[in-house]
Amino acid sequence: MALIQKLISSDKYSLKCPYSMTPKGVCIHNTANDATASNEISYMQTNTNSTSFHIAVDDNEAILGIPLNRNAWHAGDGGSGEGNRYYIGVEICYSKSGGDKFTNAEKRASKEVAALLKQYGWTISNVKKHQDFSGKYCPHRTLDLGWQRFLNMIQGELDNINNTTEIYRVRKTWEDAASQIGAFSVFENAKACADANPGYSVFDSKGIKLYPLTITVGSKVKVIGTNYATGEIIPDWVKQNTYTVSQISDTKALLKEIASWVYLKDLVLA
Ligand SMILES: [Zn+2]
Repeated sequence: MALIQKLISSDKYSLKCPYSMTPKGVCIHNTANDATASNEISYMQTNTNSTSFHIAVDDNEAILGIPLNRNAWHAGDGGSGEGNRYYIGVEICYSKSGGDKFTNAEKRASKEVAALLKQYGWTISNVKKHQDFSGKYCPHRTLDLGWQRFLNMIQGELDNINNTTEIYRVRKTWEDAASQIGAFSVFENAKACADANPGYSVFDSKGIKLYPLTITVGSKVKVIGTNYATGEIIPDWVKQNTYTVSQISDTKALLKEIASWVYLKDLVLA
């Protein structure tokens, strides 16, 4: 999920987020009005009261307004309160009138919160409501619709994230499961393991061999390196496209469409 960053200027830190923070969880709010996430964030950042929160989510976007390593004043539990000092405040927009915009904002929020749980290694028990800290009936519409229902949405999104996390296995062959010497969630780490152990390859969870692959004349490739074989910098747009290898010489390949030589190590099969 894309969390758009529109961070508060540091000269507002003393008013809005004076303390550094190692977050312990997420605190959910409803805005109780019908403004967009962008308007919520800019209003929060520019007004002169201390009330603040980290993230606002509407039906279109989620915006980070205060860094996650600083506190925000959103939980109503005082200057040294657990919520105010250790929880990431997430505001769900459009709760005043509800309807589709709120439904979609809540759905987006469940994805963003799941991403935070994943990022910090948390579980659903790290998700609190404003009410837990101060007794205020917030997030009002989310509570009206059912708090457990919202937690279930987040759990579902977290399950999705966990199920789609690929595990890269390093083996001699896929069939020879006993030869496995490592399993990695980061492809580059699996590749390094295979490089350090001649005869080993990297496979995805379906058994497709991902590395090393042989590039030959006629292969469709993408460019991942930073320099052409001539030393010139490869512009970013070149890396967007797929090319055909028309010739291989030693450690280099000639890419037909751009008539350029690129080192084989800087190519991957498309
Ligand atoms: Zn609240």
